Amino acid sequence: MQVRLWGVRGSLATPLPNAWLRDKARALLAEAAPADLATPQAIDAYLDRSPHSWTYGGNTSCVEVAFDDQVFILDAGTGLRALGAQLLADKRAFTHGLHIFFTHFHWDHICGFPFFPPIYFKDRAIQVWSGRSDAEALLATQMGGAHFPVKWGRFDGKVTCTQLPEGAPTAIAGATVRILPLIHPDKAYGYRIDQGGRSVCYLTDTEVSLHPGKVSEVYADFVRGADVVIVDAMYGFLEYHDKVNFGHSTIFNFIDFFRDAGIGELVIFHHDPNASDPKVAQLLADAKRYQELTAPNAGFRLSAAREGQTWTL
Ligand SMILES: [Zn+2]
Ligand SMILES: [Zn+2]
Repeated sequence: MQVRLWGVRGSLATPLPNAWLRDKARALLAEAAPADLATPQAIDAYLDRSPHSWTYGGNTSCVEVAFDDQVFILDAGTGLRALGAQLLADKRAFTHGLHIFFTHFHWDHICGFPFFPPIYFKDRAIQVWSGRSDAEALLATQMGGAHFPVKWGRFDGKVTCTQLPEGAPTAIAGATVRILPLIHPDKAYGYRIDQGGRSVCYLTDTEVSLHPGKVSEVYADFVRGADVVIVDAMYGFLEYHDKVNFGHSTIFNFIDFFRDAGIGELVIFHHDPNASDPKVAQLLADAKRYQELTAPNAGFRLSAAREGQTWTL
């Protein structure tokens, strides 16, 4: 199983502002030694090791889970556009099973869907899965009226929407898929995908901080033993207190919940559009310090989601 992140930003796509790009350029120039710039190879090596040469990314939620001849896609945010281009380039768009799983139908999780090339291929089958019975109507709405030039049902692919049951696993194309109701306006569902003895969990968007006592065991049971667990950790500890009831969490609750869950890696996801790269890096540093202080034996790694981040499990 290979897991790759194509969109990691929450709420709204966030292209890198010029001011933030300039900050990176300034830091790169200020920290370079003459030897770092001596040859093209030296420049590449310098860029490879500098923390200023990359960005966490501004596309909204989209995660690829690939195995055998299948491509599972978790959410269709703006990150789906680049994933679609990759699937065209490596031909999987034509040959592999395509399954899109929606956590929910807020804009940031669906707006890449009309830009996914396979929906325009004649008779191409695409399976859409969610926890809701009205997924087709919700997807059609964003392409309806004056919102998009190609209306639902006017594309050549065959998109089939299916509701997943709560509380029981569903076998899909050689994998086992479970959903978990989350705490979010308009209903959202988390996912656990098990395949070939490995597993990935995806729990966004959810506000656990309001009800930590009620959900900690339920969430811990859901992710138990998973290799990678991606969670909505949109806000820092103090920012959260300005955003109560917005439907999002901090990483600190999840560190508490999962200390004994035997997971491999916990991933900060759904970054705030207001969070610059240094701010996301600081959030990760704070989370690591919190884990050291409160759960030193928890055993999982912590990371902050970055476009292109890949796990081969
Ligand atoms: Zn979202
Ligand atoms: Zn949402």
